[in-house]
Amino acid sequence: MENQGKKMLESAQALIKETAKNLGFDEEIIKRLIEPEMICEFSFPVKMDDGQIKVFKGWRVQHNSLLGPYKGGIRFHPQTSREEVQALATLMTIKCAVAGLPYGGAKGGVLVDPKKLSSAELERLSREYVKKIAHFIGEDIDVPAPDVNTNPQIMAWMIDEYRKIKGYQSKATFTGKPVAMGGSLGRTEATGRGGVIVLKALLSELVKDGSTKILSRLNSSLTLLKQKVSKNFVLPSFNNQKLKSNNEITIAVQGFGNVGYYFAKIASEAGFKVVAVSDSKGGIIKPKGENMEALDIPLVMECKKEKGTLAGCYCAGGVCDTKGGKTITNEELLELPVDILVPAALENVINEKNMKNIKAKIIIEMANGPVTEEAYEYLSKKGVVIVPDVLANSGGVTVSYLEWVQNKAGYYWSEEEVNSKLEVMMKKAFEAIWEKASKKKIPLKQAAFEVALERIVAAMVG
Ligand code: NAD
Repeated sequence: MENQGKKMLESAQALIKETAKNLGFDEEIIKRLIEPEMICEFSFPVKMDDGQIKVFKGWRVQHNSLLGPYKGGIRFHPQTSREEVQALATLMTIKCAVAGLPYGGAKGGVLVDPKKLSSAELERLSREYVKKIAHFIGEDIDVPAPDVNTNPQIMAWMIDEYRKIKGYQSKATFTGKPVAMGGSLGRTEATGRGGVIVLKALLSELVKDGSTKILSRLNSSLTLLKQKVSKNFVLPSFNNQKLKSNNEITIAVQGFGNVGYYFAKIASEAGFKVVAVSDSKGGIIKPKGENMEALDIPLVMECKKEKGTLAGCYCAGGVCDTKGGKTITNEELLELPVDILVPAALENVINEKNMKNIKAKIIIEMANGPVTEEAYEYLSKKGVVIVPDVLANSGGVTVSYLEWVQNKAGYYWSEEEVNSKLEVMMKKAFEAIWEKASKKKIPLKQAAFEVALERIVAAMVG
């Protein structure tokens, strides 16, 4: 994993370097965009339930603060490393800039397998970690949040420990808290919701003027999708309007956790036809002749909760005969003949091995880094539109920002208000990147990095 973290870091830095060079920034500016402003590496003791003391290693990397306080989650993982945390902090700088947030980028991590800890041990570990970082964070300095294997409960322990150390309440120092402790309504669904907002905005642009914009570079496969979209999509307004019931814009979603589930659910509610979903054990579809039927996403979730896995859940809400649903592998899901593919589980799942078999015309990167560089290049050249992770999954950090604003103001919005602010912000973020990509005829990922670096460099005053 250390190697994987190293590779991830090198690739993030190479992308920034290349983009910065294209933009004509000098060497010293490039250095400021790449080097973290601070790396805290530390170890700390935690008392286990049997009375023994165990020592854990932790990090907080503060990458860049030109646009505002550092922002980024804390992960608990048995294979994390300094390099991985640094890479993720670097990408948070880009993501916050892409999302138009007044934040820089950071990330934290602890080398631990949290599944091997009791709840009391997990609480003590979370509190000890905060003791180490308390003097480097704060609502206007560095604002942590949940990440892999951390959650609102862990944020609650952390903010409580922070209050004890400081001697005052500072709710805005952590986001992703339980609602009872100042968390925002709408935060749980935010990443999935943000992805659907971006997808709708993309489809709207694709139908607006295909001949003069990015579409002109794309091959005829997209024209087909464009025709479908024109027929079925309610345009140009996409304020929660449903597609017509006979729509045929099909979506396959890999991953049925926080991001994948809410993406699938909200996309279905908007009228898209979600025909395949999967978790770590595999996926499900309901074939009908040459096509696939739409899945009832909330029912599928109910079934997953009951059975613990998606396999076999194709019966949910449908006729359960032998000709009905079908279990598929994760590899098969990625290669389905769908219009839109949504990898929402793991990194590097679309790679050299399977890129030639991908049939989707649009890929929404909801997981972090699901498409490798080789696959990105190959598929982009082929005309597939790939919405990069730094934009597609920025709904989560955007609602974290809204939580921070509410905490600072001491005034709380309804869920509808939060959702509508998220929509405005995601659309604005998408539009800036779309405009750059159209003007320069470059892929959306390159455009996203250019927009982010320009915003960061514009904030350099010396
Ligand atoms: P999660 O743990 O809630 O869900 C992960 C899902 O992926 C689960 O359904 C799991 O079964 C599935 N999965 C695991 N291994 C798999 C495999 N080999 N093949 C297919 N599916 C597999 O995690 P999440 O919060 O939904 O995050 C998913 C991705 O989105 C991660 O890359 C994460 O970094 C990224 N992300 C999450 C958020 C957020 O707000 N949760 C924000 C930005 C990015």
